[in-house]
Amino acid sequence: MQFHSSWLPIPAHSDFSLHNLPFGIFSTKSGEPRVGVAIGEWIMDMTAAHEFGFFKTLEIDAAVFKKETLNDLIALGRMAAKAIRLTIQQWLTDEHSPLKEAASRVLIRQTDARMHMPLRIGNYTDFYSSEEHAMAVGKLYRPENPLLPNWKHMPIAYHGRASSVVLSGTAIHRPLGQTKPGASEYPVFGPTAALDFELELAFVVGKNSELGKPVSMAAAEDHLFGVVLFNDWSARDIQRWEYQPLGPFASKNFASSIAPWVITMDALEAFRVEGPVQAPVPMPYLQTTGPKNFDIHLSAAIQPKGFEETVVTETNAKYLYWNIHQQTAHHTITGCNLNTGDLLATGTISIPGPKGAGCLLEATKGGKQPLNLTGGLNRTFLEDGDEVIIRGFAERDGIKVGFGEVRGEILPSLPDFI
Ligand code: MN
Repeated sequence: MQFHSSWLPIPAHSDFSLHNLPFGIFSTKSGEPRVGVAIGEWIMDMTAAHEFGFFKTLEIDAAVFKKETLNDLIALGRMAAKAIRLTIQQWLTDEHSPLKEAASRVLIRQTDARMHMPLRIGNYTDFYSSEEHAMAVGKLYRPENPLLPNWKHMPIAYHGRASSVVLSGTAIHRPLGQTKPGASEYPVFGPTAALDFELELAFVVGKNSELGKPVSMAAAEDHLFGVVLFNDWSARDIQRWEYQPLGPFASKNFASSIAPWVITMDALEAFRVEGPVQAPVPMPYLQTTGPKNFDIHLSAAIQPKGFEETVVTETNAKYLYWNIHQQTAHHTITGCNLNTGDLLATGTISIPGPKGAGCLLEATKGGKQPLNLTGGLNRTFLEDGDEVIIRGFAERDGIKVGFGEVRGEILPSLPDFI
């Protein structure tokens, strides 16, 4: 798909091209949190644009633009979001657009706005869909048996904690907990000494499913609205002690961070690719045909306080073994229902290669091989004052769809509880 250029100056390599138009929640000094659409260095204030009549042909209830989350807008369905994006593209490419006259009241500089949590997240599920990651972590925890026998038969996941999903920029206190150092007979209590990030994408559910009714592979597409960058913070020493027999709990429930902009599935349509060959062939309810992976470049950087950032991960979502349709079908095959605004995350996205590891556990071989950072520093796991920045983009045939970034700084543990 090719677009004419816009009368609005959009920097050539902007994440927020005319093709992208992601949705978020923003506020300015003078207003309540409300729906915005990112375009170049600007945010289109959807309430203001609607008041100018720019969406009157769409017959959309303007109340959805005044909400402090995107849930009601998402619940209108993917076609509504698609129509909104197409309309904005038309207004921004038409040289005679009346939007030009109204621009000063409809377009707000991103630097003048504050972003908010874009979603009311009822449930968050984290999958484990990268074979490279599952294999590498399996080797560390169970060298004799790295990939468990179930892994290639179904997408493995745990139910995460929605209440502690936070917006990019929220600082994270180093969590406290129980660990059991190798040589010690008893567990010890204290701040985690193995705090990690996990580079992931989280898919946003766009449509409720009915309790008791599975969502088939064929229907999955209709239940997905978009994607956000996601950092599933993890305390590895706590995880190692607690994870058997029921999986991760306190090692992951203290915080997960999301980027402020929700990239629509429609904007990603041009970047669909075939996933890896699946062998053994999955059961019929998980059988997949056609391109259902996404070619999205992803990176993670660490920036210690007072130093420059160092990119420590460069990976790509296209290699994920299980795709989001399979995750959706498996999640609901029991009759478990999904709700608008739920997050289904991919799990850590790793690929082979020197910077292919999507977390420090994997990159440092369990904390045994430190990574060198610029400024002569090195890291096995995160230290207080470190900021982690995850970024992503898809690019093809001159079209770029960027995801912005999700960042978070590590603060010391709260002293009252140590
Ligand atoms: Mn994870």
